[in-house]
Amino acid sequence: MKQVKNKHRNTLRLLLPVFLTAGFITVLLVASTAFFMIWRQTLLENLKTREALCFDLLDLKGQLSENPLRSDRDSTIQSLKTRSEENLQIVRFMMIKAADNAGKAGAEDIRATLSGKLKGDQLLGRKNIILFRLELDNMINKTKEAVREKREYFVFANNLFLFISFVVLIALCLWEGLLLIHQYRVQSAPLFKLSGRLAAFNKNIPESIQEIAEKIKKDIKFMPHSFEIGQITETLVSLCEDVTVKSKKLDELFIRDEKTTLYNYRYFKEHLIIDVERAKRFGDKVSLAMIDIDHFKQYNDANGHIAGDQVLGRLADVIVSQCRGSDVPSRFGGEEFAVLFPKTSHETASTIAERLRMVICAEPIPHEKHQPSGRLTVSIGIATFPDDAADWYTLINNADRALYHAKAAGRNMVIAFSSLDQEKKTI
Ligand code: GH3
Ligand code: MG
Ligand code: MG
Repeated sequence: MKQVKNKHRNTLRLLLPVFLTAGFITVLLVASTAFFMIWRQTLLENLKTREALCFDLLDLKGQLSENPLRSDRDSTIQSLKTRSEENLQIVRFMMIKAADNAGKAGAEDIRATLSGKLKGDQLLGRKNIILFRLELDNMINKTKEAVREKREYFVFANNLFLFISFVVLIALCLWEGLLLIHQYRVQSAPLFKLSGRLAAFNKNIPESIQEIAEKIKKDIKFMPHSFEIGQITETLVSLCEDVTVKSKKLDELFIRDEKTTLYNYRYFKEHLIIDVERAKRFGDKVSLAMIDIDHFKQYNDANGHIAGDQVLGRLADVIVSQCRGSDVPSRFGGEEFAVLFPKTSHETASTIAERLRMVICAEPIPHEKHQPSGRLTVSIGIATFPDDAADWYTLINNADRALYHAKAAGRNMVIAFSSLDQEKKTI
């Protein structure tokens, strides 16, 4: 449950900055686009009204050039009314429209002038018309200038928007690029490294797994990495450590005998073959002692197999204590032990075996007084390569033969195969 919560928290922690950035940029883009659209629309409306005003003023100027208004003799509105009431009405209407448009376009001076003209009663005398037309020319020029300015401003605003959009796009691309680089540095690159190291697992398990774990730890420690990569690394390293420990345990189980913790027959045989081959190559000697507990069946029958197992353990400890570091003490099977003496002649092997026999004989063992000799003893047969055998299995056979003769000769003794008569050597 706690792990699930942590997982959610980590995902949130990872996604939150992305969502926040994306949200912020979206809001910013939408808001600025909306603002710009409103602003652009206002500019456009203003431009259109200015243009409309310009056309109104041009129309008005044209209308003023119409014949009935152009009189040399009459100079009052009254006289014009009688001559062309209709034309006057048109001019007034056009002036009202132009004044209205001027107000909308924010051209206050034009609006005020036109409104003033509409109120006055000396509007359309010849001189007034000429003056008014001059004023109109002035107004038209001013309006044209304003239209030009507004148009330029409008184009500038459009260009500005395009430029800002372009800058935002470039910034987004850069941001994405940086994010990609960051992602590559903290995710892809460490993953690439990890997978490279893990590929070695196929070839090196389990020998160098600990070494690989160390390398992984070092690699990731010195490179930028995400939280998840860190976690994967930790898990991998601890997995490697577990595998190493378990692999060592397995190795031990594979080569050790459960009851005595001596080497088992598998390990003994492997070692024997290697040692005999090595001795063949370098001209060395390899000796083998086969040790068998005397009348062990009797001991088991009298004291039970659990007590018998304890004796096996006890004797194993004694055997180990009498061996040198290079010797290979092992349980051959049942109540038989085998000790391999690499680079050892049968004389040295016999000496060690004799000492071992005596120590075992002197070792106090529970209930041993019920044994036929009153003590728990062992018989030992010795054979040596290449003196007594040309290969590893003949070496075992001949050590066994020597052991058989030790038993036959009364037990609790050591016999070397080389000391047997020729006749006994074949039995
Ligand atoms: P000998 O002196 O001729 O060797 O007599 P022995 O009784 O030792 O030989 P025998 O082959 O008749 O009996 C071997 C006995 O070893 C029989 C068996 O109960 C005992 N034995 C073999 N393996 C184990 C073991 O793992 N635990 C126990 N407790 N006894 C075992
Ligand atoms: Mg036996
Ligand atoms: Mg026995």
